[in-house]
Amino acid sequence: MIIGIPRETRPGETRVAATPETVKKLSASGKHQIVVEVGAGVHASIPDADFQAAGARIGSAAETLAADIVLTVRGPTAAELPKLKRGALLIGLLNPFDQAAIQSLAATGVSGFALERLPRISRAQSMDVLSSQANIAGYKAVMIAGNVYGRFMPMLMTAAGTVKAARVLILGVGVAGLQAIATAKRLGAVIEASDVRPSVKDQVESLGAKWVDVPYANDEERKIAEGVGGYARPMPPEWMARQAGIIAERCKTVDVLITTALIPGRPAPKLIRADTVAAMKPGAVIVDLAAEQGGNVEGTEIDQIVVKNGVKIVGFANLAARVAADASALYARNVLNFLALSLNPKTGEFNVPKDDEIITATLVCEGGQLVMKA
Ligand code: NAD
Repeated sequence: MIIGIPRETRPGETRVAATPETVKKLSASGKHQIVVEVGAGVHASIPDADFQAAGARIGSAAETLAADIVLTVRGPTAAELPKLKRGALLIGLLNPFDQAAIQSLAATGVSGFALERLPRISRAQSMDVLSSQANIAGYKAVMIAGNVYGRFMPMLMTAAGTVKAARVLILGVGVAGLQAIATAKRLGAVIEASDVRPSVKDQVESLGAKWVDVPYANDEERKIAEGVGGYARPMPPEWMARQAGIIAERCKTVDVLITTALIPGRPAPKLIRADTVAAMKPGAVIVDLAAEQGGNVEGTEIDQIVVKNGVKIVGFANLAARVAADASALYARNVLNFLALSLNPKTGEFNVPKDDEIITATLVCEGGQLVMKA
């Protein structure tokens, strides 16, 4: 079979869905041919020659898109759709929440596997692209905050006097938020964090951060807050108002605010109002990791740094793509592990286990039809 790895064409997308390491493993059996588009790895610091040395052939965009199995980071653009082969397998972040995009993908007749839909079970952890990329985004958010912030992160005692440690608040403590806490901690900041899910408190405290509690008024609020399948659900307006009040008070004291709150398939919850930003200290920095989903902060603009009363709001999209080499390395391993469900790397035998729950959860279209489960 031919396995194609096209160059990503969406603006700002620097990642690539395979690396020489994964190409080597995919080609080990000698039964499959790997075709990588010319320049596919260039933004991730992988020259074509390294892909060739690992056993790939360098080809055109058309060749890679017409392969039997196409590995991508992002779903194909409208211009790329007609180049896919009917019956081929397409594996990547296909944005299953965008109904129109998924419909047009289905119309090509490919079998599309949307990795966003991987179930959060232990067997799927090695394939979990959302986690591997969110981890990187959490790290990069702190790096960007440190860069934009006009002061030190750690406390410093110098002959010229003492510098206070930065106070960092992290809202939304999933994979990205936990990594943001760990990274800010390494830089010597004083950290507070909060989340809707009560189970996160212990994780926050075990990383040396202080938990900011937003109490539940009744059992119903507590039940909703527990979420489903590891993900949060939208909270009732009363709880959101209580949270906004508590967080607004904390925001008056912090130097760096990192927001990561997401609810799958919905716009990001608004956690920070414009008046909360207005009451923050001049020089404070906000990094809104939810910018692409509409932002957690009023005033966030996608891919911009907006300055409001001296507070800088960073709304960069796709932070993982700003760590392109490592993001690609982890993404490519996730994809390889997903492929390993169907592909025996030693014998080269390829057989999709149709009844495997990882396959049924991720398969969004097949034979020209949408087959996505609710
Ligand atoms: P996510 O990116 O969907 O959301 C980020 C965080 O925002 C979550 O912690 C969520 O609770 C929080 N949030 C949502 N609405 C909020 C609000 N109104 N106020 C405050 N916070 C809000 O989440 P994620 O990072 O993908 O992970 C969520 C959980 O799933 C984590 O606990 C993670 O450890 C777990 N997980 C489990 C597995 C597995 O078991 N295989 C794999 C990956 C992640």
